[in-house]
Amino acid sequence: LEEAVRQADRLSTLGALAAGLAHEIKNPLGGIKGAAQLLEMELPDNAELRDCTRVMLKEVQRVNRIVEELLELASPRKLDLTKVNLHKILGDIILLQKRTVDDRRVTFQQHFDPSIPPILADEALLTQLFLNLIKNAVEAVGAVGLIKVSSRVLADYSMTQKGEGRSRMVAIEVSDDGPGILKEQLEHLFTPFYTTKAKGTGLGLAICHKIVAEHRGMIRVDSEPTKGTTFTVMLPLIQ
Ligand code: ADP
Ligand code: MG
Repeated sequence: LEEAVRQADRLSTLGALAAGLAHEIKNPLGGIKGAAQLLEMELPDNAELRDCTRVMLKEVQRVNRIVEELLELASPRKLDLTKVNLHKILGDIILLQKRTVDDRRVTFQQHFDPSIPPILADEALLTQLFLNLIKNAVEAVGAVGLIKVSSRVLADYSMTQKGEGRSRMVAIEVSDDGPGILKEQLEHLFTPFYTTKAKGTGLGLAICHKIVAEHRGMIRVDSEPTKGTTFTVMLPLIQ
């Protein structure tokens, strides 16, 4: 137990450090961006150096994304709880993602249980949670594939033994028929900075994990290499 407390303490110190560092990086980054934009405007259209300014701006944007996600992960915050319609959130995300893919080759299916009532949650955070999962599915299937998003009620799911705190949960599944994940990689997925993508930050699932924990839910992943992957998010249904 002592070790667990020490570990938690180390992590919260690290979190504060990361948040502070992220803030410190944002200002000089803004300076670099401004300078690169100015340079770009001053250069003639055909200048070879334009490639350099383009790279600078792209990389600035990338660092910015990493810093934003790190802040997201490291900073403590209060949930803004309202009654949210899960299906509306999921439907909107799917609609947006559909526009980013060739819809003759990547298919989305949704199977929602209409009996699921609005749940008490932070709408912005849930949007981010499911966006991260669905984006990962889109990236996993690549050019051709099937992505299914479904919801169902888990009847009287008991979070603790003895029926104490027994509550109904809602399960949201995001599954894809992409390449799947090797068994030895599964345990690293939620670790910050773990990524197998050339342009990945490895922070998406760590953020998902945090958001689910903040909502007293659970997240699990099931995957079979070459068959596909399913992420299941379980959230308490309090009425
Ligand atoms: P990123 O997307 O920036 O790599 P994430 O935290 O979102 O970071 O995901 C971490 C890693 O988990 C990915 O790099 C990938 O290897 C794996 N992963 C996540 N979702 C899927 C999926 N649907 N199918 C296959 N691999 C996945
Ligand atoms: Mg991701």
